[in-house]
Amino acid sequence: MERGDQGSRMNRVVGVVLSLCCLPAGLAQPAETTHARHVIIIGVDGLSIDGVVKAHAPRIHDLMTRAAWTMEARGVMPTLSSPNWASMIDGAGPEQHGITSNGYLHPMVSLQPMCQDSEGMFPTMFKVMRTQKPASRIAVFHDWPGFADLLEKDVPDVLQHEHGAARTTEAAVKYWAANRPDLMFVHLDNVDHTGHDSGWSSAAYYRAVDEADGYVGAILDMLQNLSATDSTFVLITSDHGGKGHNHGKNSLAEIQIPWILAGPDVAPGRIAASVYTFDTAATVAWLLGFSPSECWIGRPVLAAFRPADLVTRTNSAERGCAPERPVITVPATGSAGPGAEDLLHHGQHNN
Ligand SMILES: [Zn+2]
Repeated sequence: MERGDQGSRMNRVVGVVLSLCCLPAGLAQPAETTHARHVIIIGVDGLSIDGVVKAHAPRIHDLMTRAAWTMEARGVMPTLSSPNWASMIDGAGPEQHGITSNGYLHPMVSLQPMCQDSEGMFPTMFKVMRTQKPASRIAVFHDWPGFADLLEKDVPDVLQHEHGAARTTEAAVKYWAANRPDLMFVHLDNVDHTGHDSGWSSAAYYRAVDEADGYVGAILDMLQNLSATDSTFVLITSDHGGKGHNHGKNSLAEIQIPWILAGPDVAPGRIAASVYTFDTAATVAWLLGFSPSECWIGRPVLAAFRPADLVTRTNSAERGCAPERPVITVPATGSAGPGAEDLLHHGQHNN
């Protein structure tokens, strides 16, 4: 459905509801703004929950005051980069897309994908968006070269690798300002590098998070300067956390990831539902008005758009759709994760 071609807001809303039957009763998409809607995903490689909470990170913490966020989102196992970035952009897990390693010591794809095109690729959100909205402008800037192996290289208008997070951000900001893409993905790698070199939760690691926070700030400032904040969703998330000097094993420190979404009509505060990294693609589809691939298992994070007490669990199932994810009533981490107060008065690291 090409949203811009719709004659009326009512037709648009009805069309979206029909194509995404899983919308709970009473919940429309976020209100249309007077401008086109944009999504920017900032994927900070190796950004742990601990890193978000304990680093100074003033821009991310400030963004969280007006964002819907969870510090208990989960990636997938194994907690390596490629399986997790793939799951995020594929709307599905390794069981579906088959990517189980970074491809250094083992083949990157160890299972035949459940869905694939003629080149063997599982459909990414970039491909699904391009197919349904061919005029879309899609941009990907990545600090880690391996990211390009996870998507259909001919789909984005720009797929650009830069050396280092600073250059990656600079290129992304310059491109966005000139072209205002509908969807832009920015991958930053400095935090993961420092985690491997100095250890997750080291002083150097928190400094690296602060550096990434500055890159987030540069993107937010760009939007502010272009008066585009009110028409742009910004999602800050990561592929995995880490433990010691590594990641890849099965611990909450490695598999829990931040998921912080700001933008028009987002309900600020902690998201009272479980969120998985493969929900990101479905959420992007919902925000930008295209239908998720039938190959995907993720669901849009609708709880980010309304108060938790309005979350309904059953009526979508009665309409033949997958039920919405359950509201979290018991903290999943044991440590309960940080509350908003903890984060906003962030207890900064002392080391
Ligand atoms: Zn990674």
